[in-house]
Amino acid sequence: MSDLTDSNNPLAEAGIDTLAVRAGQSRSAEGEHSEALFLTSSYVFANAAEAAARFSGDSPGNVYSRYTNPTVRTLEERIAALEGVESAVATASGMSAILSTCMAFLQAGDHIVCSRSVFGTTTVLFTKYMERFGVSTTFVNPTDFDDWEAAFTPQTKLVFVETPSNPLCDVVDLQRLADLTHAHKALFVVDNCFCTPALQKPAQFGADLIIHSATKYIDGQGRCLGGLVAGPTVLVDEVLGFIRSAGPTMSAFNAWVFLKGLETLRLRMDAHSANAQQLAEWLQNHRAVEKVYYAGLPDHPGHALAAKQQRGFGGVLSFTVSGGRESAWQVIDATRFLSLTANLGDAKTTIVHPATTTHGRLSDEQREQAGISQGLIRIAVGLEDVDDIKADLARGLDSL
Ligand SMILES: *Cc1c(COP(=O)(O)O)cnc(C)c1O
Repeated sequence: MSDLTDSNNPLAEAGIDTLAVRAGQSRSAEGEHSEALFLTSSYVFANAAEAAARFSGDSPGNVYSRYTNPTVRTLEERIAALEGVESAVATASGMSAILSTCMAFLQAGDHIVCSRSVFGTTTVLFTKYMERFGVSTTFVNPTDFDDWEAAFTPQTKLVFVETPSNPLCDVVDLQRLADLTHAHKALFVVDNCFCTPALQKPAQFGADLIIHSATKYIDGQGRCLGGLVAGPTVLVDEVLGFIRSAGPTMSAFNAWVFLKGLETLRLRMDAHSANAQQLAEWLQNHRAVEKVYYAGLPDHPGHALAAKQQRGFGGVLSFTVSGGRESAWQVIDATRFLSLTANLGDAKTTIVHPATTTHGRLSDEQREQAGISQGLIRIAVGLEDVDDIKADLARGLDSL
């Protein structure tokens, strides 16, 4: 089933919805319809010669679930198919996908250029831990190409970006950044967590490796942690080599949950996007709202670019209220069913005050640079009735 370039493969010409439901599945002798969950740590061999061949790599089968597992492999093949790349490898979390990518390609003396608007823990990983092993990072304004250009050094090996960014929905020109990165002979890594392949396929715009936190929209219902790295086999194999040796492997159970999540990925992403669009337009017209950050709004500076490189604008938006932190907290505390949590990519709408939570560790100056004001509220719009979400927010907004 796996080789989608093989014209005998019934999925060779399949669209994204078909791939999301069927790619990567190979049925066992039991003929199960739903993907099988292989909860096994190791595998048995028919005889001593087969064991030797498996261990030496002469025979390709399973040895141990830190190396390969059939359920995890189905997920890896499905994600690769959806992203339109050759291979993928699954990891225990999104962070271990990023760590494993760094460990596979970087060594002491190397340099990373990274967007300033990336997931907070990614910043911690690069500054606190990679730095300790001699890898330095320069953070840049993601929409300022002079800033990107100036950050490169002869030691730059990896460029890391998220688009649209969290929480302000800055949109980065992927093709332009890919060209710049490749001119400097560095590896272009895109964290595609916010869009998923249902809305954006970074490989079409020159990304070398695509990172996912499967914890978010790939699961879609907030149950399991997981991550993936996708790209050409020669690169993914390097990451796989680190994972086999270090052990941040995805559990088969989590892979099975993610496979179920993927079956509805595009439907959910379209519904998240539609709800977010309606909510953004409603917020924009509320007198207590100063500014709405959502690339689906025509006056957002990244609107045209997002319309070009994304199939939809996604489920995350932010807005500022007048009156700073006090007003923002008032709106958050007046909600009755929205979930006050920093997580996102869930059927349940979540609300958070970035300045005192996800971005609370930044200095005032860093926070200002990143545009995270005290009046800013982030919403990861879920799949509830959008009128109910509006009503839950209106309670606090109307009182301002
Ligand atoms: C959550 C997240 C991560 C980290 O993923 P975990 O699964 O929590 O380790 C990385 N990047 C982005 C954009 C995220 O939202």
